[in-house]
Amino acid sequence: MLRYTTLISGSSGNISYIENDTDAVLLDGGISFKELNRLSDVMGISLHKVRGILLTHEHSDHSKGVGVISRKLKVPIFTTYGTWDKVHPKAGKVPEEHIRLHHSGDMFDLESLNIETFSLSHDALDPCGYMVGSGDRKVAFVTDTGVVEQDLCYRLKECAGLVVEANHDVDMLITGPYPYFLIKRIMSDQGHLSNLDCKELLLQVLGEKTKAVTLAHLSAENNRPSLARSCGEQALSHRQDVSLCIASRYKPTEWIEL
Ligand SMILES: [Zn+2]
Ligand SMILES: [Zn+2]
Repeated sequence: MLRYTTLISGSSGNISYIENDTDAVLLDGGISFKELNRLSDVMGISLHKVRGILLTHEHSDHSKGVGVISRKLKVPIFTTYGTWDKVHPKAGKVPEEHIRLHHSGDMFDLESLNIETFSLSHDALDPCGYMVGSGDRKVAFVTDTGVVEQDLCYRLKECAGLVVEANHDVDMLITGPYPYFLIKRIMSDQGHLSNLDCKELLLQVLGEKTKAVTLAHLSAENNRPSLARSCGEQALSHRQDVSLCIASRYKPTEWIEL
């Protein structure tokens, strides 16, 4: 069994929970410990199974609670050297044994969970994406990236679960309230995937093993869940066997079991 839920997702905070029968891991820590407890209660999660936190990059919507969550749960933070350089001044005291640094591309085991890492293309120092596997099932988390390299596409085909960014609708972004420099940043190769980027990515990576797709990191100002969903539905139009859900800024997704 491998199952997961994205507890919340978006520029105000990001955190997902992934578990098998015996162990669990958090992906990112962009909320307070209090909020984590509240969301965990909603899903009936008891956090004692958590063995670590995988941290993708230093932006505060992913990292602001990571020090506190690590201290409260007494679990290590796994992240890249560059990300930790940026995060540790703000994370408070984290004991040496709870700092586990790696390079993008490394693989390691976290108790019974297998973790694979890959680099992302984002305006952060050393951003890193993660795949979490158990047995022959795995789920990949691909958000906060302006592009997805071909190598990664091949690897995503092997994942039963895909959590993929659908950050903005390009028309809404261009005609919306954001200043020009920010629009350029978001649309750049180090920015975020648009709904259309997301659809094109899905069309490339849907494989025999794909079972579930979650669209994540939707912008509040420059996207609507209905627009993201429609891009997802177009990509999945020939795949009735693949489930689709949209991660929310306010509440957890349903459990997705692979
Ligand atoms: Zn983000
Ligand atoms: Zn970011």
